[in-house]
Amino acid sequence: MTPLRTPVIAGNWKMFKGPADTVSFFRDFLERYQPRSDRSIIFFPPAISLTAAVTALEDRTDVGLGVQNIHWEKEGAFTGETAAPMAASAGAKFVLIGHSERRHVFGETDEQVAKKIGATLAAGLTPVVCVGEKLPERQAGKLEEVLSRQLDAALQGLGPDADFLVAYEPVWAIGTGVNATPEDASAAHAFLRHRLEAAIGPRAANVPILYGGSVKPDNAAALLAAGDVDGLLVGGASLDPAGFATIANA
Ligand code: PEP
Repeated sequence: MTPLRTPVIAGNWKMFKGPADTVSFFRDFLERYQPRSDRSIIFFPPAISLTAAVTALEDRTDVGLGVQNIHWEKEGAFTGETAAPMAASAGAKFVLIGHSERRHVFGETDEQVAKKIGATLAAGLTPVVCVGEKLPERQAGKLEEVLSRQLDAALQGLGPDADFLVAYEPVWAIGTGVNATPEDASAAHAFLRHRLEAAIGPRAANVPILYGGSVKPDNAAALLAAGDVDGLLVGGASLDPAGFATIANA
């Protein structure tokens, strides 16, 4: 599955759905989702449900799977953590890195984000690097400063030839029901693209930039149509198979 610049619709289940709920989700979702050659779908179930997701998806190569977080070490005395090679051997192809809940609930730093990206790539997985500003930062006119800091730190872990995705997820839009307008998303994405171009040159054109933050069935099409928006990262609304199928079919 090659998601690069094909519209990507990704679902982050956060800490919802154990293995049994995962199986019933896919039974319902796969009946409703119309596979399209111009669309890539990725799910990020909880790590404990990854095997159930792999089994439920069987030979559906059009639907990819990832984990929501990894540790940067390959193994060791890190109780409760998951290593990237373990995620890979369980069927993950992608890793969400630096999600705002990791950064702001668990105190993940830019430096840790860079280390996790390095570990993800070393395991042959593709990172989906999340960046986004808090509301006071936006209100203080610091949007570009925050995005630059987070993206530049991530690029330290990326190396010259890495395939990766970026997700612009304004913190004030995540789980709040208040999405960025298509214009605001577009402006932030254009800034990120420009910054990527400055850092990695023409390869920046291949990097999908997804928007995330209160995407719902009724705003998905408008956000997806916004300039420089290459896909959507959906949290709460990805938990409902019918609603997420509507978004994926948008
Ligand atoms: C997310 O978890 O990445 C997210 C964007 O959440 P929500 O869609 O619920 O705002």
